[in-house]
Amino acid sequence: QAKAEGKGRYKFYAADMTLRQERRLDMEGALRGAIDSRAFHVYYQPKLQLRGGDIAGFEALVRWDHPSLGLIPPMDFIPLAEELGLITQIDLLVLEQACTMGVQCLARGYPVTMAVNLSSLDLKNPDLPTLVAGILAQTGLPANMLVLEITESFAMEAGLGQTSILEQLTALGVSLAIDDFGTGYSSLSYLKALPVNSVKIDRSFVRDIGTDSRDTMLVSTIVGLAHSLNLRVVAEGVEDHGQKDLLHHHHCDEAQGYLVARPMPADQVFAFLDQSAQDLAVAVAQ
Ligand code: C2E
Ligand code: MG
Ligand code: MG
Ligand code: MG
Repeated sequence: QAKAEGKGRYKFYAADMTLRQERRLDMEGALRGAIDSRAFHVYYQPKLQLRGGDIAGFEALVRWDHPSLGLIPPMDFIPLAEELGLITQIDLLVLEQACTMGVQCLARGYPVTMAVNLSSLDLKNPDLPTLVAGILAQTGLPANMLVLEITESFAMEAGLGQTSILEQLTALGVSLAIDDFGTGYSSLSYLKALPVNSVKIDRSFVRDIGTDSRDTMLVSTIVGLAHSLNLRVVAEGVEDHGQKDLLHHHHCDEAQGYLVARPMPADQVFAFLDQSAQDLAVAVAQ
């Protein structure tokens, strides 16, 4: 039986195969229904500019608002959505909400970037650039405020077909970021082959920075490498001041993580931006 565990966490407790298959069919049906009714909430997690202290932008993170299970985290339904070929529809819903939020932030005087995660399957769809261009036009978000995050494992496998989709996307003026950077590389040549603008250092390297000298060295090396290729560097999973200060010291550009803020629902974004601007003004005045 599927159970709500803690705050809407979802897990399989299938005792046998039939039950599991039944459950899966339920989830399939529910997921298709969720797309029709647009039952996805987008949470926004800020990125802090380490030099200056401004909020540089937000990353859009999807949650499925399930009628009985509550909010389901992405890792518990994205694999199924990918298997069913539904992921691109979900990602486009997220993109549309994130672009609308970006336009609203701009209208309030905050020209923040909006980052959206793409599945590797999205990048197999030759219509993707047209679909993205359509959402930018429809929402009115300037293309240079949109960042698309693709995982390093995809970037490494990207064949020629996908490279041309990525080039068409960047031709729109959109930026590309390599997510979970450092987790998969055996070759860095893809950084030269793809039109990338930034890398996001994976949380696993950030976690022990300061206590593990090899991690500190790795992060410092990644920043140097990225900067020499004219790429911006974002560190993910920054949870304490020690990590933040070290990242700043090693010239990392932006920090994202629970220290700055947890992913927040859309209705908290403006208050967060107002509060951050106020805190920064106070800090600068001191
Ligand atoms: P990601 O893009 O690497 O996103 C970062 C994940 O780390 C998020 O989990 C975020 O809540 C979490 N996180 C952020 N700061 C901290 C921190 O300081 N400490 C710790 N322990 N965790 C932190 P979330 O929201 O559960 O998303 C998980 C993954 O699901 C994302 O990893 C991304 O790959 C994928 N995802 C999320 N939204 C979408 C979407 O709209 N489309 C697609 N295709 N994938 C998505
Ligand atoms: Mg991401
Ligand atoms: Mg990431
Ligand atoms: Mg990650």
